[in-house]
Amino acid sequence: MRKKIVIQGINYDSNSSFMRGPAKAPDIIRQAFYSDSINAYTELGINVTQSEQLEFKDPIKPTDFYSDIFQSVDNIISDGKSLITLGGDHSISYPIIAAHAEHFDNINILQIDAHSDLYEDFEGNLHSHASPFARIMENKLAARLIQVGIRCLTPHQLEQSVKYGVEVVEMKDFHESKLPDLDGPLYISLDLDGLDPAFAPGVSHHEPGGLTTREVLSIIHNIDVPVIGADIVEYNPIRDHVGITAAVAAKFLKEIAGKMIKN
Ligand code: MN
Ligand code: MN
Repeated sequence: MRKKIVIQGINYDSNSSFMRGPAKAPDIIRQAFYSDSINAYTELGINVTQSEQLEFKDPIKPTDFYSDIFQSVDNIISDGKSLITLGGDHSISYPIIAAHAEHFDNINILQIDAHSDLYEDFEGNLHSHASPFARIMENKLAARLIQVGIRCLTPHQLEQSVKYGVEVVEMKDFHESKLPDLDGPLYISLDLDGLDPAFAPGVSHHEPGGLTTREVLSIIHNIDVPVIGADIVEYNPIRDHVGITAAVAAKFLKEIAGKMIKN
């Protein structure tokens, strides 16, 4: 039996280190997703918006960061559904993946990001959006963490990636044909600043020299293992121009949902 895919926003950006904005993202991505300017088909031929498998839920606004997010995700998965989350800053991936780890063994995480987000803490905040993958790895919530698009490793973050056995594909070495093989169940964590700011200006941290929209689409299209869940994070509407980054986020949402329906 095919499972429903819930799409839920998390209106939260209090763990951002530089600027606010991503808390306002989910509704804007949803509007772009349903815009009359695009049709309902993914590039692989799946009609997503007419699929009865998609269920948009109203965004949540956590007051207790960890437990509110964990509980909400756990309820959805316990219901036999899978989840794509619209962020929010990247800190939310820790409680989201923690809830997935209650239901799935040996999770592989594919993180697309300019930053490795492996800081032990950032300015004293253990839940900073610069630290979710340190929490995930120290709590052994994933069998593998594969990071793609990274282009500003500090010596500390490099140390952390060695300590936790993270497979880092730095942007300077990126080539689509050289990505590590995935062996699911796969969780996709897509930080929009992994893209070059030319393609996605609507993020808090502009880090030039990143992935193209097409490269990210190809990575998604070439996934041949079951995708158990995903998040699309760090969209900052305050920084966007004419909704271009919202359209990119909505496109990724459509293609990832199509993948989840198909695989
Ligand atoms: Mn980032
Ligand atoms: Mn990130």
